[in-house]
Amino acid sequence: MRTHFINGEWTDASGPTFPVYNPLSDELFEECAAGTAADTEAAVAAAAAAFHAWASMAPGARQALFLKAADIVERRTEELVTLMAAEGGASRAFSTFQIRLSAAMLRQAAGWGYLPQGDVILSDTPGRTATVTRKPLGVVAGFTPWNGAFYLAWRTFLLPMAFGNTTVIKPSELAPISSGLVHAEILAEAGFPAGTFNVVTNAPEGAAAIAEVFFSSPAVRVINFTGSDKTARILGERAGRALKRMVLELGGFNPAIILDDADVEESIKAVTFGAFLHQGQVCMNTRKVYVARSLHDAFVAGLKARVESLKIGDPIDPTVIIGPLINDRAVAQIAARVKDALDRGATLVTGGYADGRLYRPTIVTNVPADAICTSGADETFGPLLVIEAFDDAEEALRKAQDTPYGLTASIMTGDRARGLAMADRFDSGIVHVNGPTMASEAALPVGGVKNSGWGRSGYYSIEDFTELRLTTVSTEPGRYPF
Ligand code: NAD
Repeated sequence: MRTHFINGEWTDASGPTFPVYNPLSDELFEECAAGTAADTEAAVAAAAAAFHAWASMAPGARQALFLKAADIVERRTEELVTLMAAEGGASRAFSTFQIRLSAAMLRQAAGWGYLPQGDVILSDTPGRTATVTRKPLGVVAGFTPWNGAFYLAWRTFLLPMAFGNTTVIKPSELAPISSGLVHAEILAEAGFPAGTFNVVTNAPEGAAAIAEVFFSSPAVRVINFTGSDKTARILGERAGRALKRMVLELGGFNPAIILDDADVEESIKAVTFGAFLHQGQVCMNTRKVYVARSLHDAFVAGLKARVESLKIGDPIDPTVIIGPLINDRAVAQIAARVKDALDRGATLVTGGYADGRLYRPTIVTNVPADAICTSGADETFGPLLVIEAFDDAEEALRKAQDTPYGLTASIMTGDRARGLAMADRFDSGIVHVNGPTMASEAALPVGGVKNSGWGRSGYYSIEDFTELRLTTVSTEPGRYPF
């Protein structure tokens, strides 16, 4: 039984609970506390009370805590790999990727307290000096998703904390331990002051009540949301009424364009990784490939062979690359989209079926434009990739952007200048030339445009998690018009 973490304490476990299941075996993995509005109010109050001391802590003292947390993350690697496999179906490749990124982000953020905090502005008024300083906001409330659970939870609270804010996290109910509770264990061991980081878990039906406390609490200044655009719309409407700032890291329909001068082998590797890491359940996974017709057949044949060589099974096995989808709903979404495409006349290259929740990596071609999986209107969140041949690169670029999303894109080409020129015209938060759509480094600002959200991760999140304070001081008597 796992409880909330509020004001540095694991709270009393006497209240109602909700179950968390292993996505592969469907066995009970853990019972967690089903949080209420009262739990959330207590967590917000603890974060608010901890704010001033945390915001004014010397940069070296904060740095030591972040560095210690990074060491603990690395020390606990094997345990975390097991946790992410059992709770979220993550392969070792995906969990170790997240662990590396998390430790790197902690170590980078550890130094931010020493960076310049503002500017001096010259004033036209004699004797006046003006300074503009970055100030933390107060309490940042965060929603974490289940999919890249471990890393994305760090990203949700660590960035605001590095700029002097305190936090309350509402983890995903599908993976509450790897998307929040294990972080509380790590920060408690590292010695973070009570109240700086709080976690309230919830049963699915309890999410709205927790969100309502975040929106209605004056102490909560920003809501940092990572999840789907559907949930973001619900929360965004409420945020509008509360005049509360939100950072939105949402989904994508991430295209890859393979130009006629691209290296086919490199393109096959980039697309296999980009489309099928974590069974296609990452916001940055490649959903559609536009490939120059001259390369199409070789690319599809090579991709099919590489994808069919990926081992499928229990992600606890370190040789397994493709684990289970998170639940039956996720399997049903992919099955329905594959059926829809095939019913409309698409060609199945590989996959198209599941063994329980182990859905085969699936590739379709010749997909009619009105099929759900190819239109780009709605994110497909699983191992389904659409391939389309093109004759005209301009047409491919236009089609690749004909989607309400704009998170990440990939261009494969033998000509860097050509790739950069095309990248410049992509309406997307991220474009990789000669790399997969799926790429992350702690220092790189991840974020989308259009329905993929707003805000950026890494150091650039200073824009989202601080406010500018203008302070002036005058050394001469004022000159007033009346
Ligand atoms: P989700 O939107 O279902 O849930 C996200 C969070 O919102 C969870 O904590 C959930 O409990 C909460 N939530 C859901 N409905 C709610 C409601 N009515 N009121 C209050 N809270 C509610 O998303 P998910 O399935 O957990 O994650 C997958 C989605 O997240 C995909 O769309 C993916 O692309 C996106 N994502 C984006 C990024 C990014 O960096 N851009 C990263 C990871 C995931």
